[in-house]
Amino acid sequence: MKRIALLGATGSIGRQALEIVDAHPELELCAAASGSQAVDGLAPLTQVGGDLTQLLEQAQPDLVLNAVVGFAGLPATLWALERGVDLALANKESLVAAGDLALDAQQRGGGRLIPVDSEHSAAFQCLEGRNPGQVQSLVLTASGGPFRNRTHEELADVTPSEALAHPTWNMGPKITVDSATLANKGLELIEAHFLFQLPYDRIDVVVHPSSIVHALVRFRDGAALAHLGYPDMRVPISFALTYPDRAATPVPSLDLSSGVTLEFHAPDLETFPLLALARRAGEESGTAPCVFNAANEVAVAAFLEGRLPFLGIAEVVAETLEASKAAPARDLEELVAADAEARRHAGEALKVA
Ligand code: NAD
Ligand code: MG
Repeated sequence: MKRIALLGATGSIGRQALEIVDAHPELELCAAASGSQAVDGLAPLTQVGGDLTQLLEQAQPDLVLNAVVGFAGLPATLWALERGVDLALANKESLVAAGDLALDAQQRGGGRLIPVDSEHSAAFQCLEGRNPGQVQSLVLTASGGPFRNRTHEELADVTPSEALAHPTWNMGPKITVDSATLANKGLELIEAHFLFQLPYDRIDVVVHPSSIVHALVRFRDGAALAHLGYPDMRVPISFALTYPDRAATPVPSLDLSSGVTLEFHAPDLETFPLLALARRAGEESGTAPCVFNAANEVAVAAFLEGRLPFLGIAEVVAETLEASKAAPARDLEELVAADAEARRHAGEALKVA
């Protein structure tokens, strides 16, 4: 029996996780939490809002599935890593903002960090059991989102509902907008850097519109291993919850005779500047990825509320990065301060964008 605490139970990942847990008698929900919607009766222990680590402390789970959206997921990530409790991580923002702190906590705690993000789950599987010295580089695929092939001018007037119409994945609103701006792939680049301890110049991003190949790993002998499957988050969620068992899911296996298209292109970094901004923030390290994430959260929320044009998202993030001095993030307090400061800067940048 594996006792699971599900954080973000009412979200897109959370609901799909409930389906996986229901299908497996050896998985038991011991706690469930959401930000605002009711979760009564979902698990013996439930909580709406508040400090998620209190719930975790009470529940003492075997595994935490962190499917909260945004920086708010950070205390739960650190709680699990610090205690050696297995962490299935969908909440990429916590690892982006606090990668160094998270890895230090994991080193002390000794638990497993199993990615739920589809690209990282794919890369994890391609890398499992390999000697890091044989790995040349990692390739993350991006669908390109709903605005692939558009020009800068064609993006000026796009609305939240157009940005929310993702061609291949059905996800929560924040990550869907991030996919439309390519900020999501920028967050994923930083996430991959920390998860797999690869320098940024050995992590590439390619646009792959059909979202069948989730990641590739290139090895030093010229071989590349790829992970393929239909775009369905139940696969990486199930993988993370049942690891190392790899339980069955209702997702069909790939039917190659029905015409699967594998097309790859370089991303358009000029039209979608957030990917390059994320790479720069990642390379700068310290609090820079935290600042990138905070500014992006503020800008995306403003865009969704109709207070910021689509192209303003990248502008707000660029200005916030410019205005913030990256410093080493030595503890959670410093990081929380950097996040708050970046949100303040981004709020100022919003007024003029
Ligand atoms: P969502 O908006 O659908 O759900 C978010 C969940 O987090 C909700 O249950 C909400 O109540 C909860 N939440 C929000 N703020 C909270 C707070 N302060 N305290 C406690 N709970 C809070 O989002 P989602 O699409 O399910 O994404 C969740 C995370 O998974 C994000 O980090 C996202 O980047 C990542 N992710 C999602 C997908 C996907 O397919 N949806 C794929 C890859 C990664
Ligand atoms: Mg992803």
